[in-house]
Amino acid sequence: EIYTFRLDKNAQRFNNSAEIMCMPKIPIEDQMQAINTLIDIDRNWFPEKQDASFYIRPFMFGNQDFLGVHPSTTYIYCIIISPSGSYYQDGFEPIKLLITKEFHRVSPGGVGTAKTGGNYGASLRVAQKAAKFGAKQVLYTDVNNKTIEEAGSMNHYHVTKDNKIIIPSFTDTILKSITSLSIIELSSVLGYEVKQEIIYLDEFIEGVKDGSIIEAGGLGTAAVVSPVG
Ligand SMILES: *Cc1c(COP(=O)(O)O)cnc(C)c1O
Repeated sequence: EIYTFRLDKNAQRFNNSAEIMCMPKIPIEDQMQAINTLIDIDRNWFPEKQDASFYIRPFMFGNQDFLGVHPSTTYIYCIIISPSGSYYQDGFEPIKLLITKEFHRVSPGGVGTAKTGGNYGASLRVAQKAAKFGAKQVLYTDVNNKTIEEAGSMNHYHVTKDNKIIIPSFTDTILKSITSLSIIELSSVLGYEVKQEIIYLDEFIEGVKDGSIIEAGGLGTAAVVSPVG
């Protein structure tokens, strides 16, 4: 059977992103109906595989015929739906992330809280650089290289020795992950206290070294809950 995960929250964020990009909002019920209709078409013949999932990717682009820098007056809204294995080829083996002063994901006052193509475009060169160090992606810091923000497509979390899950406070340079929100909402069930706070890079590294931080990872729909080594 196919189950969707928090379609309404994703549709809401789609609209938040659209607003930031000066694109039109689509009523949440209409987005959900479009996605559910496509799922119904595929329901009878989707492949079944242990631990695999269906990845649903709605997107929208302007298609007005003009040259110039201003919002389009017409748009196309599409949904791609695809069976998806594990996001990381190595399964749930911890991945490596590179921390560097050379790159930053987004800037304050920019479009970092929008799920928009340009932010991913900007991450490709960064991933190539990270690969030179055997890392999958960069764990970005803020523009002053003082605090930990997130990776290219997943929020950061770490777990402390006293059973706290720490997630960076959402700022305008961190994409508000629905997976993170789910972890926060589930914290009491999980038996962990979940706290959002500003994570200073030097304190984080210190904590890893002295053993007060016992686990780190990433949170995202595609990335799921991925351990970082
Ligand atoms: C998509 C994305 C996430 C994860 O968000 P989810 O809503 O959990 O899928 C985190 N960071 C960035 C930059 C993203 O693009």
